[in-house]
Amino acid sequence: MKIVSSLADLRTARLSLDGTVGLVPTMGYLHEGHLSLVRQARAENQHVIVSIFVNPTQFGPKEDLSNYPRDLERDLSLLRPLGVDMVWTPSAEVMYPSGYQTWVEVEALTNPLEGAMRPGHFRGVTTIVAKLFNATQPHKAYFGQKDAQQAAVIRRMTVDLNFPLEVVVCPTMREADGLAMSSRNKYLNEAERKAATVLFRSLNAARDLYEGGERDGEKIRAKMKELIADEPLAQMQYVSCADYDSLEELDAIKGKALLSMAVFIGKTRLIDNFVLG
Ligand code: AMP
Repeated sequence: MKIVSSLADLRTARLSLDGTVGLVPTMGYLHEGHLSLVRQARAENQHVIVSIFVNPTQFGPKEDLSNYPRDLERDLSLLRPLGVDMVWTPSAEVMYPSGYQTWVEVEALTNPLEGAMRPGHFRGVTTIVAKLFNATQPHKAYFGQKDAQQAAVIRRMTVDLNFPLEVVVCPTMREADGLAMSSRNKYLNEAERKAATVLFRSLNAARDLYEGGERDGEKIRAKMKELIADEPLAQMQYVSCADYDSLEELDAIKGKALLSMAVFIGKTRLIDNFVLG
C-alpha cells in the first residue's frame, strides 16, 4: 500500500496502475461504513485508491472542522488488510493553493435539506470531489447512501461535467442498535449515544406507516417529529419526506421517496435516511 501526499507523487503512482481504478473519497477516522465502500471497490476494480482529506471548504464557520477526529495511523492500519493500492493524503495547500478561486456548483439539488442547513457545504463537496476525480482518474467512485443528498449531487455533477466514471452508492452501515456509523459518533457521551438511536427509531416508525399504506407526506413527517420530540437529548433540525430524484418535499408519496433528517444530539449533529419504494 503506497501512501502519497504531493500531487507529483500521486500522479507518478497513478501512472503505474494499469487497468481499472476504484476511488473511495473519505475524510478519514475510518469506520466499517468507509471500509464497506473500500471492500466493494476492491471487488469491482483492479486497483483501489482511498483519499483521506478533511476538506475545510465543506465546513461552515461554526462547524466542527478544528475538532473533526483524525487518526491517520489507525486509518492506514485498517486499510492495509483490505488490499488498497494507494492512499492519498493531500494537504490543504495542495488542494487549495494560495489565491484559490475556482469552484464547482450544482444548482437545484443542493438547495433543500443539507444544503439549506449548511450554506456552502455542497460547493465545498463538489469542488473537492471534482478535484479528486481529476487527480486520480478513477473508473468508478464509491459513496455511501448515508449521505443521500451528497450521493445525488455527485451523480448529477458527474453527468453534467462529463466525468468518464461510474458513481457507485453503497448501503448505510449501522451499529447493532441501528445507529448509522459516522466519524462524528465519537463525540457522543454514553447518554447521548443511547439517545442517538432516535434517528433510526423514527425512520423505522415512518417506514412502518408507509408500509401500512400511509402516503401522506405530512403525516409521515409528523410521525418522525413526534418521536424526536419525545427524546429529551434530541433537537430536530429538519425531517423530510421528499421525492427521491428532485429532493422536493412531497404532499403525497407516489414513486420513490427519501425520508431524511438532521438531529442534534447534544452538540453533535447527526443525519440519517431511508429510501421508500
Ligand atoms: P466521510 O469520511 O464522512 O466524508 O465519508 C466518506 C464516505 O463514506 C462518504 O461517501 C460517506 O457517505 C460514506 N459513509 C459514511 N458513513 C457511512 C456508513 N455508515 N455507511 C456507508 N457509507 C458511509
